[in-house]
Amino acid sequence: MFIAAQYFRPPFPKQRYFEEDLKLMKKTGFTALQLWVMWGWVESDPGKYNFDDYDLLFDMAKKNGLKVILSTIAEIHPFWIHRVVPDSNMVDHMGNKVISSCRSESNVGLTPGGCTDNPKVKELMGSFLEAAAKRYAKADNLIGWDCWNEFRWNVNADGYVCYCPHTLKAFREWLSGEHGGLKGINEAWQRRYTSFQDILPGKTFGRTYTEMMEFERFLTKRATEHIAFRYERIRKYDKTRVISAHGASPAISMGGNDFEHTLSRGNDFELTDKLDGCGCSHFPFGGGGFDFNEFGFRVEAVRSAARGKTMWVSELQGGSARWGIDVHKSVTPEAQNNWVWNGFSRGAKGIIFWCWRDEVFGVESSGFGLTGNDGLEKERLKALSVSCNKMREHEKLFDGYMQDDPQVGIFFEPDTYYMKWAEKGHADDPVESVEGYARALEKLNISYDIVESSHLKYLNNLKVLFMPWPLIVNKNAKTALIDFVKKGGTLVVESEMDAYTSLGFYNYPEDRTLAAAFGLSDEGRRQLNNKNSAFILGTNKLKSATWITPLKFEDGEVLAKDADGNVLAAEKKLGNGKIIALATFCGKAYSGSPYTGFEGFVKSTVENSGVKSFFDIKREKNSGVQWRTGLSGKERLLFLINNGKSAKVTVSWNTKKQIIPLKAWSWNVFNLKKGTLVKK
Ligand SMILES: [Zn+2]
Repeated sequence: MFIAAQYFRPPFPKQRYFEEDLKLMKKTGFTALQLWVMWGWVESDPGKYNFDDYDLLFDMAKKNGLKVILSTIAEIHPFWIHRVVPDSNMVDHMGNKVISSCRSESNVGLTPGGCTDNPKVKELMGSFLEAAAKRYAKADNLIGWDCWNEFRWNVNADGYVCYCPHTLKAFREWLSGEHGGLKGINEAWQRRYTSFQDILPGKTFGRTYTEMMEFERFLTKRATEHIAFRYERIRKYDKTRVISAHGASPAISMGGNDFEHTLSRGNDFELTDKLDGCGCSHFPFGGGGFDFNEFGFRVEAVRSAARGKTMWVSELQGGSARWGIDVHKSVTPEAQNNWVWNGFSRGAKGIIFWCWRDEVFGVESSGFGLTGNDGLEKERLKALSVSCNKMREHEKLFDGYMQDDPQVGIFFEPDTYYMKWAEKGHADDPVESVEGYARALEKLNISYDIVESSHLKYLNNLKVLFMPWPLIVNKNAKTALIDFVKKGGTLVVESEMDAYTSLGFYNYPEDRTLAAAFGLSDEGRRQLNNKNSAFILGTNKLKSATWITPLKFEDGEVLAKDADGNVLAAEKKLGNGKIIALATFCGKAYSGSPYTGFEGFVKSTVENSGVKSFFDIKREKNSGVQWRTGLSGKERLLFLINNGKSAKVTVSWNTKKQIIPLKAWSWNVFNLKKGTLVKK
């Protein structure tokens, strides 16, 4: 376990600060500092690696009793890359050669730099990674590696990338492998190509779905291959340490944006298959910011991908954010420490703050420093010191902790993200739909897994699975989902399950094999109006979004109708389990503006499915308490994080009951000892 701070993004901070900074880090109780090992800085002269500043920092860290995490920034290329490797530029969707530049927050090196589908660029990058691994594998104060920062590769490409000849070749080879040659592609895409040379990736959104979805899928797979490449190059010399990496957000939230395809930075679940662990960046007080529920689901989404492996909170906001001259709110020590313990309560084994000192260049200048000038720096270090000491005091206990296996899941189908992006240039509908359920489960403090459609190992641990925005379900998941219900699971499925293929072709109702297996059919899409935009299900009022698809039912139980008699919710049995079908997208409706009716629906569905936590915890109304429980060896731990005014919680288990008062804005860890919860 560790609590660390990002320290060096070359060439800052300057050497004259090293000694005093490291001393204060140690005094605060930090375990380690993170260094950005940037290709563009280390190999400023082709073939000559200069690690002088890192050597110095490793030595100084050791002298001060601190460890080091190395973050390899191979995606920021040396300024010479295009000179030394001619024709290595990426090519955008308009056929233009991409001109690289410095990244807004990195003073040295080029982005996006050369295309890694160019073998020469990849080889040079690999040599850099090997050089770094070779040099520091023997350092006894190295904790491990973060081998890819936020899975970045196309920053500032200023167009959709990449359409260079190397990427086109890789895309066509991948397609051929997927479909079994040209004949297979023609069958799948329903076209009449006569040469691979004629097959092009999708150009932009708003055209046919097929080639865009395939290109997006290729980019996701390419990210997986790329991370395996980075991992192997480091592993070649460092045989033992953890090699992790982290995203800017969890994959479920990566809907894409200006000049970025959804999931083109990869999919946490696939990426983590190739790593020892995974993490994520979190800046809850940056820009529009996000609340504790969102912080919670971001961590849970990464934990779900990292199951059985290490999970880090890889970038956690240090001080006030900056973007140009915009001033953001100061980071309070209370919120900050609650983020830390929130992370630990969900199984994180490391926290890395971004960053120690305020930045000094570009749009991030004057921001982000734990020790920065936002008026709360002294209080922050004081409060973090308490967290660091507590973590160290019980390090073994916390290190062995993992929250209990969740019994609730949310289905994540990347294919629906690809199709939505192909339509609109952003996968907002599936993103909001998935996040809606996650947000509600956070509000209810019910633990859950994100279940990615090709990672179904833990599906049968679950009692309930929510399927938001299920317009596509890839064929590999179908049998597992049917088995899940037959064995007794509850499947909550939103409108138009299985309405499209994974290549974006519309399935007529009679071709929806999965829906048919569940006995589901509908009357087609109808517009929302004032009669169907909300409906009563049991005791809860639910809101509709996007459309309704009135359900057709030969058997089963009708749960809700609109004023025109359309069936908007129904229940059907299958084997030992059941399907609850909704004729609209309630998760999406909730995501934008949370309301209690949806929470009531999620809660009653979970309870009726027999989900039980070790503790039953009652919180006061409007309380900001979040909690998680699990085991460390045989010891049961309970984390209570109070993000608000002082509150009481009533904790019941077996025949016992204990009322626990919590101070305002406090993190609390309890250990169950002889029938009593004892504070650590
Ligand atoms: Zn390329």
